[in-house]
Amino acid sequence: MPIPYLGGVHPAAHKENTRRKPIVPLDPAPKQVMIPLTMCTDGGADPVVKPGDKVTVGQVIAVPREEGVFVHASVSGRVTEIGPRPHPWGGQWDAIVIENDFQDTPCPDLPAPVDWERMNREEVIQRIREAGITSMGGGAAATHRRIRQAVGRVDTLIVNAAQSEPYITADYRLLLEKGDQVLQGVQMLAKLLRANRAVLAVSGEKLNAVEFLERRLRRRKRAVELITVQNRYPLGMEKQIIRAVTGKEIPPGQEELDVGCAVFNVATVYMMRLALLKGVPLTHRIVTVSGGAVTRPRNLWVPIGTPLRCLLEAAGGVREQPAVILTGGPMNGVVQQTLDAPVVKNTKGLICLTEAEHAPAVQPETVCVRCGHCVSACPMNLNPAFVYRAIRMGEGHRLPGLHLEDCLDCGCCTYSCPSHIPLQSLVRQARTILAEGEASQ
Ligand code: SF4
Ligand code: SF4
Repeated sequence: MPIPYLGGVHPAAHKENTRRKPIVPLDPAPKQVMIPLTMCTDGGADPVVKPGDKVTVGQVIAVPREEGVFVHASVSGRVTEIGPRPHPWGGQWDAIVIENDFQDTPCPDLPAPVDWERMNREEVIQRIREAGITSMGGGAAATHRRIRQAVGRVDTLIVNAAQSEPYITADYRLLLEKGDQVLQGVQMLAKLLRANRAVLAVSGEKLNAVEFLERRLRRRKRAVELITVQNRYPLGMEKQIIRAVTGKEIPPGQEELDVGCAVFNVATVYMMRLALLKGVPLTHRIVTVSGGAVTRPRNLWVPIGTPLRCLLEAAGGVREQPAVILTGGPMNGVVQQTLDAPVVKNTKGLICLTEAEHAPAVQPETVCVRCGHCVSACPMNLNPAFVYRAIRMGEGHRLPGLHLEDCLDCGCCTYSCPSHIPLQSLVRQARTILAEGEASQ
């Protein structure tokens, strides 16, 4: 019986187009990749190659600043340029451009697999950093930093494979196709963190994957709990998944570690295992290409830095002009202005929506009818209707005390509003007003 869940919405899943599509390598491979020097929210990287240099798959091409991670070549070939390129997070950011020689020559200096259980914990964490591992579920935090902060402070490790965003099935396919490796990765991370309990959280609708993993767990007797949670959006958010799995609330102003929990995305854990057991750095990821405008939706194994255009071509292009193109899902994704932007480490989906799919989001706004749907939908118990009134009536003094710092930016309020009020944007605006007010004090 799936664990019920407070708030959230249940948008049409639209996963049937890709849930039975196995992960296949991108074909044809890209002629050129553009690997941004910023793919981690904990810091960018400085290049250690220059135009003209030959590179191999997995070779370090940039070293981190601050708490960032190492960056690796995802194809073999020659560096042609280092300069600004479109970034899927928005704007132009410096990237290393590599012309693919289509040889896929592996780097001869890849680190050897390690007996990680005998290694010093800090050495293992450093290995994870050198392999360039970041969160791959949406955020892009450095995994080594999150592990370092969590060691000894965590009772429950939750590996999140719920993936509640519509259209995206990348994690579902990973569970089905690499279930054993995922379970092993969960156990490894639990040991590394010294967590007593290791949970793999899967949404109730992933029935095939749940049955498959249950069989695996029975056979292998792995110390991992499989928990199915109700399929509602947003389940990717840490506070939500912790509440769904453990029943613990994170008080305002506190974080997951304060309640003894740590949440990692399943793809991140899979790549961490590969880095430690095989010495393989993060050079590729699974991307779901879907949406009503895509001719042949699919799940692709893609070199980091591949232009989004190549993914769409591999999926047969578009059968009608998309109304909007997003990376990530339609609820929380980033609208893309150009398909020249590359796949980065947190690009889980490329979604091309038709006018009909996108239309609900662009209907004209009418007045608030005080139905309370936004309040019921808010997974953080906030009151977006109060924010609407405060902003639209110029009553900014009413904003403090609404606990807007807890907003997850999930968009459930906008989705649920029958008056098509852009509540999520208004909450963002309110948070900016509050932040500016604090800064000027
Ligand atoms: S107020 Fe924030 S947390 Fe609540 S539904 Fe809206 S976007 Fe989500
Ligand atoms: S959902 Fe929309 S119409 Fe209903 S109370 Fe909230 S803001 Fe008003």
